[in-house]
Amino acid sequence: MAIKVCKFGGTSMADANVIASVKKIIVSDRERRVVVVSAPGKRYSGDKKITDLLYACFNELKSTGGIQKSFAPVRARFTGIVKQLDLKLDIGAVLDATEKRIIEEGSIDFTASRGEYLSAVIMAEALGAKFVDAENVVFFDGHGQLDGDKTYKAVSSAVAGTKRAVLPGFYGVDVHGKVKTFSRGGSDISGAIAARAVNANVYENWTDVSGFLACDPRIVDNPEQIKSLSYKELRELSYMGADVLHSESIFPVRKANIPILIKNTFRPGDEGTTIVPTSRFIQSGNVVTGIAGKKNFTVIYVEKSLMNSEIGFMRKVLSVIEDEGIPLEHIPSGIDTMSLVIPGDALDKERLTRITDGIKKAVEPDVLRVIEKVALIATVGHGMSSSVGTSARLFKAMAEAGINVKMIDQGTSELNVVVGVKDDDYESCIKAIYKEFFKK
Ligand code: ASP
Repeated sequence: MAIKVCKFGGTSMADANVIASVKKIIVSDRERRVVVVSAPGKRYSGDKKITDLLYACFNELKSTGGIQKSFAPVRARFTGIVKQLDLKLDIGAVLDATEKRIIEEGSIDFTASRGEYLSAVIMAEALGAKFVDAENVVFFDGHGQLDGDKTYKAVSSAVAGTKRAVLPGFYGVDVHGKVKTFSRGGSDISGAIAARAVNANVYENWTDVSGFLACDPRIVDNPEQIKSLSYKELRELSYMGADVLHSESIFPVRKANIPILIKNTFRPGDEGTTIVPTSRFIQSGNVVTGIAGKKNFTVIYVEKSLMNSEIGFMRKVLSVIEDEGIPLEHIPSGIDTMSLVIPGDALDKERLTRITDGIKKAVEPDVLRVIEKVALIATVGHGMSSSVGTSARLFKAMAEAGINVKMIDQGTSELNVVVGVKDDDYESCIKAIYKEFFKK
């Protein structure tokens, strides 16, 4: 029988009513055999996510040696859910054991992971399904990366022969057997891992929106819905801030060509967005698939005549950045110029000074300038490479909106064009690009 892996995010686990609808969704399809869950998220704006409450528990643990005060709201949330769902589970005992172990382990990752753990214990009980603890099947290697081979084997044998299994998202164990979490939002990665492990025919990611939109709806009213995306487009868009799915979740499924389907728990009838292998991607009528961006980058502009003929110039500059251990997002370059684009939050004043001094010492540039508060906007779409004049349209739209382009980077894949503008121009730039490519 075909297997669907379905992952339910925080808002889909937020309270007993939603969990009851999630249960209906799962049991309505026998192929939905592997379920991955997040910790309960916000029930209303201003509410607290369970994971955030758990991070607060860890802070209390560090300062007082106990978690009595901060664990109370966690206890109350889970107790309420189990009571309302009328489950037989002795949640009091599970919570007592959890509280005790949080104190014994004394680790931030272990503490944070308990939201997913408790969610999965409850969901398994509600479904009459097998609970598979990620602690026993998801493994990180000595470099903190997923140990794919070991994990896929363990997950697949844990779910083999079961009618249905529930796996908590967000965590696994390191080489010392200690619980380790992925980065925030990482249950999406766990879902993808499970899909790969059981060779699912689809990875359904159930969230609170009906898929990807062509751009941020807080900037453009009612933007078009994206029906289909390729893995590559997804990677570009989610990396650049479209936050429906964790940007690393494609890696496990990509190798096995498993499509991802984004669905809305609150509107299960909506079609959603399908993310398919690039080779199977069929171009829709649009040249551009989506637009996404992020603010607050710092650009270090370096100019030196005959830079191109100075062997090792780039390496020397890049070593300065590497020595500081900071991420570098883009390096647009010309014959005598190069720019280093760095996320602003990775830099404080001292670090920036160390970097600029380091570059001056390493290559003695003619000009070195720092431009702060730059926003990057990526316009993404496979259609862009085959359609003449796309960049011209993009820059014309920006010019007509009076927006000054500070930087351009078009990757060799021709899948996207990234422009850098002033942070203050970010919203109007996205509006202008959207109007040019979608509202015709
Ligand atoms: N609960 C974790 C978080 O809030 C992981 C997840 O939801 O995917 O980041």
